[in-house]
Order: sequence, then structure tokens, then C-alpha cells
Amino acid sequence: MEKRELVIIGAGPAGLTAAIYGKRAGLDVLLIEKGVPGGQINITEEIENWPGVQHATGPELGQMFRSHAEKFNTEFRDADVQRIEIRDDRKIVVTNKEEIEAEAIIYATGAFFRRLGCEGEAEHIGQGVSYCAVCDGAFFEGEEIAVVGGGNSAVEEGDYLTNFASKVYIIHRRDEFRADRAAIERALSNPKIVPVWNTVVEKIEGDGMVENLVLRNQKTGETSDLPVAGVFMFVGQSPHDEAIKGLVKAAKGGWIETNDEMETSVEGIFAAGDVRTKGLRQVVTASADGAIAAMSASAYINEQVHLRKTLLEPENVVALFYSSIDREQVKMADDAAARAEKEGKKIVLIDGYRNERMSRKLHLDTLPAMVHLGSGVVKDVKSISSVEDALAFVKKN
Ligand code: NAP
Repeated sequence: MEKRELVIIGAGPAGLTAAIYGKRAGLDVLLIEKGVPGGQINITEEIENWPGVQHATGPELGQMFRSHAEKFNTEFRDADVQRIEIRDDRKIVVTNKEEIEAEAIIYATGAFFRRLGCEGEAEHIGQGVSYCAVCDGAFFEGEEIAVVGGGNSAVEEGDYLTNFASKVYIIHRRDEFRADRAAIERALSNPKIVPVWNTVVEKIEGDGMVENLVLRNQKTGETSDLPVAGVFMFVGQSPHDEAIKGLVKAAKGGWIETNDEMETSVEGIFAAGDVRTKGLRQVVTASADGAIAAMSASAYINEQVHLRKTLLEPENVVALFYSSIDREQVKMADDAAARAEKEGKKIVLIDGYRNERMSRKLHLDTLPAMVHLGSGVVKDVKSISSVEDALAFVKKN
């Protein structure tokens, strides 16, 4: 089976940034993406909040990210990741083409626009029902269309759609938008935008193409018809968690839970970008996640390689686990190693604070502690409080 150090899944801003940081950290990086790299920014018309670039289209910025990752010789692979499995403690990425064993994985698959779920929606997808203004807006030149939703996507994409449509109704179930103030002001001052407050879409009608929406006013309960040629749904997003569902801890809706280091609940698997639980889903926060995830993955990989070589592979090894943030422990560890060496013995020093996972694996509840291992099997463990304790342990083992 192919073995790689770092496998990144998803080539949006999070995955591409992780690749840049991973390569710069000297890792062997494989980036798997199905389709065009760039992720959701490919379907975003304007990006004007990526610092340093006052204006770019989504695809332009996506291409810049990709070129940047290419400059560091990232290996890209076009494949569909079906699931991630843990087999005998090994992390396996199963794609539609092959299986790859990874030392660490960064899951950065992003999110997608949810369906509204009303009657007539599914049958009209691609026939007037759309989830991507950039992809489909030009089909509605001079037509009247509708947008559903009240967040940033609905308000900004609605505004963008007025480049083509003669009128854009923004149908929202409440009486105010929840988007940024600047975006709301821009949309509401656009004469082609007509907000329809306190209203939901009950049904989408049309013989073939969309012709009419049946609306219901939430306050009065009245229904009405709105003849339009198309309707764009921007009613929130869901994570692309298909390949990792059930393996890592996730919040309601499937958003992956991580800590500040982007670690998921499974050791060696990290998540970055829109797919994880977070307050602000933006290009800049996805990129930041990617950078952090790559550096955490790098530390994890180095730790694994180092620990395997020094601790788990040798036939016979005595190690002293100490905490590097405790000066007394650092001194005790150094003294113990030096005195053991004088007596012709070897103590491997491991920073148990930084290698907390390994400490936990070896059931070292308190530091400092001594461990005797043979080919990865624990033979003896003891908490110590002095150099003499350490030397006694070495003699015994
Ligand atoms: P969102 O902020 O979650 O907004 C979803 C909207 O859809 C809400 O207004 C919600 O109504 C409405 N909605 C949800 N379910 C509905 C239903 N069944 N029927 C009718 N309406 C329904 O989603 P988003 O606009 O896609 O934005 C997602 C995230 O990306 C946000 O954090 C947003 O700020 C960010 N974003 C930022 C930018 C930017 O900064 N340029 C652009 C796009 C997105 P309620 O308000 O009543 O809940």
C-alpha cells in the first residue's frame, strides 16, 4: 500500500494553505481533490476581504493559492475520498482508486449550500433552481428571479445577480437580514432588489423550467404566487463530512469538532476550514486553520517518527519521561542520564509534556516517570522523585 507522511483531503483555501505550510516544514505532502482545486471560492464572484488583495474573483484567488502550493512541489491527485479508516492503529485513506496509508491526515473538505426542501425543488434543479450565482446567473439575463435566505450569501449573491436579472426578489422568513451591515446596505440600495419579508417558499412550480413560486406569509398565513424564471437557494451550509462521519467527534449538523491545534478526537487526524465547528467561515479563517493544522500535523509526525525510533523499535530501552516546563524535572532528567552514562547505562530522555499523547498511551499518570520497553511492549513503569530513583530503576531493568 502507498505510504505518505501527510495526506490533505480537499484543495480549498484550508487544504492549499496546509499544503504550503506542510511542504515548507519539509513533509512529504499528498493533496487529494475531486474536481477543480479552489473549493467554494470557485463559485464566489468577488473576494474583497482577503488582506493584501483588494479585489479578485474567487477563481482568480483559487488559482493563486494553487500556484503557490505548486511552487513548493505539492503533489496533487484527482480522486474521490470515500472514507478514512483506522486499521491496527494505522490511518488509511480509501479513495475510489486506491488505499493510502498516512502518518497524518488533514480533512479540509469544506461545506456546501443546503437544499431548502420545499415541494418542486428537487425536480427543478438545473431547470431554474440553482445554488451557485456565479455558475448560473448569466442564464437569467433580463429575467425576474428570486433568492431565498437572509444571510451573507443570500444578500451578496442577490446583489451580484442584478448584473443579469431585471429584478431579484430576496425572500426571507424574518423581517431583517442577518448579513453584514455593509452587504445589507449595498443590497437594499440596489433598485433591482426587492426584499420579501416574513415569507417562505412553499412550492416551486413550472412545466420543465421554473415558472412560479407559491409563497406563504409567516405572519398572516396568506399564500401568493410569484412568477419568476429562476430561484437561487442560500439557506445555509452543511459540511462535506461524508468520508469521516462517525470516525471523529462532530457537533449537530456534522460540523467536525477540533481544538485550537485543529486536532480532531482521533490522534493524527486534523480538520481545517469550513468543515469544522467555528464562528466565522471565511477564506481567511480557512487558510489560518490550514496553516495551524499543517504545523500540528508536522509536530505530530516528527513526534511519531522520533518516538518510534527511540522508544518503540529498540529491543530494550529505558526511558525517563519528564516535564520540560518544570525546571527541577529537567535538571533531574539531565543528571540521571549523565550519571547512568558514567555507569555504562543509557537512559532515553523524553519530554512527556510535549509528548503528552505518548505519556497517556504508556499510562504515565504523573511525571517524572521511568519506563522499560522491549520492542514497543511496556515491561515496567515507575513514578520517580529523585535521580537515585531513576538509577535504581535502570539497574533493576
Ligand atoms: P447563514 O448565515 O447560515 O444564513 C442562512 C439564511 O438562510 C438565514 O437567513 C436563515 O434564516 C435562512 N434559512 C435557513 N433555513 C431556512 C429555511 N428552511 N427556510 C427559509 N430560510 C432559511 O448562511 P450563509 O449566508 O450561507 O453564510 C454562511 C457563513 O458564511 C456565515 O458565517 C456567513 O457570514 C459567511 N459568509 C460570509 C461572506 C462574506 O463575508 N463575504 C459571504 C458569504 C457567506 P434565519 O436568519 O431566519 O435563520
